Amino acid sequence: MSSPESVPSAASSAPSAPSSVSATVYRDVRPFGGAVAELVAVDGVLVDAVPDGAAVEVVEGGGRMALPTLVDAHIHPDKTSWGEPWHSRRAAAGIGEYVEGDVELARAMPTPVGERALRLMSHAAAQGTRAMRAHADVAPAFGLSGLEGLAEAREKLRGIVDVELVAFPQHGVVRAPGVTELLEEAATSGLITHVGGIDPAGFDAERGAADGEQLGTVFALAERHGLGLDIHLHDRGETGLAPLRDIAARARALGLQGRVTVSHAFAVAQLSGHELDAMADVLSGAGVALTTVALSATTILPFRRLAERGVRVGLGSDGVRDSWSPFGNADMLHRAWLAGWALRARLDEELAACFELAAHGGAELLGLDRADLRPGAPADFMLVDGECVPQAVVDVPRRDLVVRAGRIVARGGALV
Ligand SMILES: [Zn+2]
Repeated sequence: MSSPESVPSAASSAPSAPSSVSATVYRDVRPFGGAVAELVAVDGVLVDAVPDGAAVEVVEGGGRMALPTLVDAHIHPDKTSWGEPWHSRRAAAGIGEYVEGDVELARAMPTPVGERALRLMSHAAAQGTRAMRAHADVAPAFGLSGLEGLAEAREKLRGIVDVELVAFPQHGVVRAPGVTELLEEAATSGLITHVGGIDPAGFDAERGAADGEQLGTVFALAERHGLGLDIHLHDRGETGLAPLRDIAARARALGLQGRVTVSHAFAVAQLSGHELDAMADVLSGAGVALTTVALSATTILPFRRLAERGVRVGLGSDGVRDSWSPFGNADMLHRAWLAGWALRARLDEELAACFELAAHGGAELLGLDRADLRPGAPADFMLVDGECVPQAVVDVPRRDLVVRAGRIVARGGALV
């Protein structure tokens, strides 16, 4: 176990001639728990050796295991009460009542949304999250204040965590007058990368109308403004599967392959065998990705099978201590633990697959270079006390050091 004295420390050794190249050498680390090695970072990227004449800073790793940092593919920092006085929830049934709870919580919090989001996103970064896709509610109750708060937090964390923003119509588009206009405003604000959506055939279906109405609106917005889409889909059975096929068809028709994500997709989690493979082929053919939050054995997506058939899947925190749930902590290594627990992982390869989902699944979704500790990869990694990857998933060790683009950004669970 680590003592305070053994927390990695830095020392510099300047060469005799002045140099414009500087390298940081992380000594005595064990990539993925393997043999002791050095990780050398130059200009934010790992290289195989210190360049000739470079100014060198040395950081002692103390034999710790080096692991890639992680990507949170789905989080709602605007909804959080993280670090606030305890918020007691009341019973709720159905999305409509949960949504009322969101508004109550936002009004009850003494701290503005930008500060709450910054606190949570900083915590996530200190636990080793290098990038996230963050959804912010866009509804008449909030206007664009959630998005603006998240954008403020993103600015303060520039260089520490990369943040994509989704304008999320949590209250519906069809059923909530004014949301279409707010989404349009969000799309022209320059703040967002994605337009959101929610259960087009269930929660947001207009009575008596075709269920394509919400999808028509959000796809048109995305196409017109050159944005991606990330649509929440909780509906199960055909109420979930029919919109999924519709989303895939629209992605192909509008040339948005690779830019559309469906989050949760509980209807896909219910499939198995040929039905699952057929849906996976529809999604991969249209370049539609999925995200999962590992809530339970029945809702976690079969991500390994989906990946085998070419579907990109990211892992996310979802809401963290919000009105929907008191649980969650924005720690993606803990989320990998939850995925393993939900899947009843037992074999090393099953536990390692949960880690890879947290590290690489979301990275692929966000279009980031793979952080796999090889030369040429981003110098994004964390040092932990531990033996091997499966054990780290089970133990969830303290993140002693978090490195982003070659630079130390956090020690012992707090940003530096
Ligand atoms: Zn969500």
